[in-house]
Formats: sequence, structure tokens, C-alpha cells
Amino acid sequence: MIKGIKRDTLGDAGRIVIKIGTTSLTYENGRVNLNRIGHLTRVICDLMNRGKEVILVSSGAIGIGVDKLKLGARPATVSGKQAVAAVGQLMLMNIYERFFSEFSQTVAQVLLTKDVTDGAETKQNVENTFNELIGMKVVPIVNENDTVAVDEIKFGDNDFLSYIVSKITHADLLIILTDIDGYYDKNPNEYHDAILMHTITDLTEKIEEAAGGVNSRLGTGGMLTKVHASRLAAEHGIAAVIANGEKPEIIYDILDGKEVGTLFVPGSGSDCND
Ligand code: GLU
Repeated sequence: MIKGIKRDTLGDAGRIVIKIGTTSLTYENGRVNLNRIGHLTRVICDLMNRGKEVILVSSGAIGIGVDKLKLGARPATVSGKQAVAAVGQLMLMNIYERFFSEFSQTVAQVLLTKDVTDGAETKQNVENTFNELIGMKVVPIVNENDTVAVDEIKFGDNDFLSYIVSKITHADLLIILTDIDGYYDKNPNEYHDAILMHTITDLTEKIEEAAGGVNSRLGTGGMLTKVHASRLAAEHGIAAVIANGEKPEIIYDILDGKEVGTLFVPGSGSDCND
């Protein structure tokens, strides 16, 4: 845990979980954004060279599977999505393996389901595996095990998964990369005067209502799960930043203490056992 977290102490984070979503990994036409993945993997390799420990939580299995199979759209059935994820996850890891190997960085695939991280013994096994990988300077690449995950054992979304991974690995910092600059006081697509909130210290659920509550005029699509994950992380003492992943080099700005994205400051809310 970083002591007395302020922007200018984020650079002290030794263990960092970075989450990237499908929209950041693909173009609007559904094809893989190799340029962005190239930049992201280079930054991660560089952080590893600095002595940081990085865990990547990456979505994209279903999106890339849809593209590879030329389906045009996500299958409507659960089994259809599971099958597509089985195809896409392999390709996703193949792409990561290629980019990371350019800098001789070894990566590992870790696929999780909620029942595994919920059970005391199985969670401990997961933690042990992470510790071994991190100790060997490997970058674990985590996704939900979409091929077997059905509603009953689902995390729901990879933002929540990234919070769980941050907790299990005792990370200092969670960075959620998305396609918007951070958390706004109201929906920036609707309101030109929407203000980007740089620092959140109120870790109550009120902040989630503003991010996408049904009765709220505020918030943006997809922001709710990010705010939820960031709030929970901060409640558990992990600094969390939601930032625009268009240029993955923004991670340097975050670690340099620059005022980019939205920082959820740990230590200001009540404890939570989610
Ligand atoms: N696990 C899903 C995938 O890789 C993504 C889930 C999410 O992004 O919330 O396609």
C-alpha cells in the first residue's frame, strides 16, 4: 500500500494492475488495434524494466473471436459466446505473446471464474500462482474464463475482475484504461459543460449513482462498472485511476503524478467486503 496517497506518490506504486477493455483493443470495425496493443505492451515492458510488477487484465476474447470467425455480431446465446471466446482468447494471447516477446518479456495466461476467487482455498491457490509468476518477473495476463463462465459464476465484467485481481495480488495501484478521459460530473456526450473529476475522495455509493444511476442525468455508458471497481479498490486501500487508454503512454503521466484521468483516493470510505 502506498502511504499518504496523493498524485505525486503514485510513482511509488510497486505493483500495478492495468485493465484494458475490448473497445480500447479494437477498432470500430471490430478489427484488432495492433498499434494500441503495441504501445501498451511496450509501456508494460518498460515498467517491468524499471522494477515495477505489472499484472494486465485484458478483455477482448469475445470481440476478437467475433472478428476472427467473421460473425459480424456477438452471438445471442451463452454457449455461442463461450465458443467464440474460446477462439478469441487464443488469438488475443497469441497477439500479446508476439508483442511482449519483442522485448523478451515472458507472459502467462490466467483465466478466472468468480467461484474460484470466492472460495477461500481456491482463492489462496490463485494468490500463490500470482506470487510465483510475479516472483519470476512474468506478466500475468488475466481474463475471465469466458468459455466456462455462465451467469451463476460470472464476475459480470472485467472492471470488477480487475478490482478482484488487485485485491488478491495486494496491488498498490489499479489503472483502468478506457475510451474516455475519466469520470465526469455529468455525461460529456450530452453536456458540453461536463467537468472531468480529477480526484474522488467520496467513496460512498453516491458516486455510483452519478455514474449511471437510473434516475440520474449524469454519467456515461460503461462508466458505472469502472467507478464501482475503482471505489471498491480505494476502499481496500488500493489507489485507482480511470484514464483514457487511447495513448497507453498515459500510464507514465499517471506515475509522474500528472493530473490525468480520475484518481480514487484510498482511505476515505468505510470498509467493504465485496
Ligand atoms: N471477458 C470478456 C472478453 O474477454 C470481456 C468482459 C468485459 O470486458 O467486461 O471478451
